[in-house]
Amino acid sequence: MAGLFVDDRPVAGYARVAVEQGVDVAGEGLTYAVPAGMDGVAVGARVSVPLGRGNKPASGYVVGLRSVGDGPGEGLKPTRVKAVLSVDRDGLALPTELIELARWVAGYYACPLGMVFASVLPGGVKRGAGLAKQKWVTLETEAGDGVRMTKQVKAVLEVLATEREMELKALLAAAGVRSAGPVERLAQAGVVSIETRVDLRAGLDVAAERVAARLSERPTPSADQAAAIDRIGGALDAFGVHLLRGVTGSGKTEVYLRLIERLLNETDRGAIVLVPEIALTPQTVGRFVARLDHAGEGGAPGGVAVLHSGLTPAQRHAQWQRVRRGEARVVVGARSAVFAPMQRVGLIVVDEEHESSYKQDQLPRYHARDVAIKRGQMAGAAVVLGSATPSLESWHHAKSGRYELVELPHRVPGLNVPRVEVVDLVEERRAQRGIHLISQRLEHELRTTLDRGRQSLVLLNRRGFASWVACPDHRCGWQMACDRCDAMMVFHLRGGGTTNEDGREVPRGYVRCHHCEAQRMLEQHCPVCGKRTTLFGLGTQRVETELAKKLPGARVERMDRDTMTRPGDYERVLGRFEAGEIDVLLGTQMIAKGLDFPGVRLVGVISADTAIHLPDFRAAERTFQLVSQVAGRAGRGSEPGVVIVQSFDPTVDAIARAVAGDYVGFAEAELATRDEAGLPPVRRMARVVLRDKDQAACHRRAAATADLLGDAIAAESAGQRVTLRGPMACAMAKLADHHREQVMLLADDAGTLQRVLTAARNRGRLVSDTHTAIDIDPVALL
Ligand code: ADP
Ligand code: ZN
Ligand code: ZN
Repeated sequence: MAGLFVDDRPVAGYARVAVEQGVDVAGEGLTYAVPAGMDGVAVGARVSVPLGRGNKPASGYVVGLRSVGDGPGEGLKPTRVKAVLSVDRDGLALPTELIELARWVAGYYACPLGMVFASVLPGGVKRGAGLAKQKWVTLETEAGDGVRMTKQVKAVLEVLATEREMELKALLAAAGVRSAGPVERLAQAGVVSIETRVDLRAGLDVAAERVAARLSERPTPSADQAAAIDRIGGALDAFGVHLLRGVTGSGKTEVYLRLIERLLNETDRGAIVLVPEIALTPQTVGRFVARLDHAGEGGAPGGVAVLHSGLTPAQRHAQWQRVRRGEARVVVGARSAVFAPMQRVGLIVVDEEHESSYKQDQLPRYHARDVAIKRGQMAGAAVVLGSATPSLESWHHAKSGRYELVELPHRVPGLNVPRVEVVDLVEERRAQRGIHLISQRLEHELRTTLDRGRQSLVLLNRRGFASWVACPDHRCGWQMACDRCDAMMVFHLRGGGTTNEDGREVPRGYVRCHHCEAQRMLEQHCPVCGKRTTLFGLGTQRVETELAKKLPGARVERMDRDTMTRPGDYERVLGRFEAGEIDVLLGTQMIAKGLDFPGVRLVGVISADTAIHLPDFRAAERTFQLVSQVAGRAGRGSEPGVVIVQSFDPTVDAIARAVAGDYVGFAEAELATRDEAGLPPVRRMARVVLRDKDQAACHRRAAATADLLGDAIAAESAGQRVTLRGPMACAMAKLADHHREQVMLLADDAGTLQRVLTAARNRGRLVSDTHTAIDIDPVALL
């Protein structure tokens, strides 16, 4: 093939490049020629390539190579292939293992490779966001005659005399000096030097120093913990999945910490710790940083990097770089940290592995827990899935022996199991006239807790004031629905106010759709019969109003998506709660997860029923998890805790078992139900949702997809092992003006499901686009 040229240079080979912007919909990357003499084009290298008609330079990663002799690939004319422009040498190359992982994600989750890369790389890295800079001051010589010894100059020199070298702001603070003037004068006299350095630790400054002391304690493991550490720790040098089921308060985090310490001390490998985004509070981060970020001092070597959405793009970039350069051997982060550019991963921890937020709800629709397992397999690393309420998926695998089950059945020494009580709201209705969201029992315990100077958490997993607005005359039956969605409008208070109209209290506010966020005025009168409309159902605002009436003087704070609007809000409120400045913290599931506050005596669940009737086969599982998790926040101090669960239907299995703390009983019964119905985790599911503003077009697309999948099943002779369902309307048949239909595949195993999907792709068009969402192993089915 000699004589082949590109841009007047001989061609040395071909590279497939996944472009970061994710424009490549071909799937496997775009092909470019590698000009002779261009070094460093290897798998994982970051390169610049011409893109589109205008040949605009774009960055991307090499995902595959071919020799000149093999040609550029099927359907490509060697003379038409463009050339790689340059190789990036700034150290941004990706470990080959990560390239392989991205390719697996693209294949398994049916997503173009370029889009996977868009997820793999934080925005700050893609755009090359400027790294944060810091000024560092170094003491060079003794101060001579050239400097006037003011009080401020003396203070600065005194600090430097012991520290030698310090970051400018920290130096000024330590010296009690306001402006940098004195330091600059010292620099002019040559006494100190000032140097600008890239601040790779930006974003690590854990504000929670107040709590750091408690967080950095290194408790002696209990017998249960020690056994778990031994079992998993003995298997750190090979791939294996360990399901750590530990009741809330059993000290799972301590097990993770000890395992990581062991890994850092005994090997040269690193650890990735995934936590749900919402649990990435200064509490969690502080605990890992305080214990593991020793950067050179005694103890385990290796820094900690943090990756989450609360960081600025520049901070994320800095953190990512520390991992890439091997300066941090521990990464703590949310979902996308499973793609951290670590070279040698030895351990991956997925905390609260049952959390549905590990699944990304847009392209690529990956599940971070499952990607973590794949990465562990590729890297030969141990994977630890931790939870008090494991997903049925993980429980199923543990039972079948694919995962090793390790249990922490007791709370850590000194922590009592909270007493859990149920209040039947049907009986309560009879006992107490009027509408009360807070039962007499809960009210009593709230008061007792307040009197003892302790704290309460109150959960209601629904925002707003009232969940629907309707005509009080049920013969009329009018309800206020969203024009654009198949959903009821939710009433929200504005300014917390009520007005008096004809002697009665009327809440002032507006209505909003929780699916498309459309907002409207409240209809005061039924448009059909003219009667005054009534507010039905409950929401956190209504509970807040009632708490204010029932507990006057208590410091109540509400935490839901409506009050947590600015970055840092969540952390600020939790900081105040920790400091004892809030008596009652009321909120949605945000308050249910991972929090460890010793001041909490009481947990109240306003309604355990909010999710139980959702049209999703995981409704019972979600209910069980939510009630168990929030109950686990009680009694983490020296005194015992109390949990009160209110429900209209406390005999429902998920609620009764959560109250009894019977995970195994629940999981077994639920698995049997799923097995009978042929649902995950016993079978594997893929779902394709078709959406279109035009209902007929939506249906045509859905029918075509069903045909395509049906043909693929036939072609693979998989009819025995794969079931096709649909086309049918989604549970939410209309969303934001789009009609929605779905087609589902249920297969006996993942391999068969993948074969059918691949066959379908080879037979016709099956890609995710604006009309089509392909979701493998879906977790939400609305
Ligand atoms: P989980 O994640 O299992 O709910 P945590 O890891 O949050 O539990 O631990 C609960 C609390 O117990 C934390 O405050 C932790 O510092 C403390 N703790 C953990 N292990 C021990 C131990 N062996 N002895 C005493 N306290 C412990
Ligand atoms: Zn809507
Ligand atoms: Zn009416």
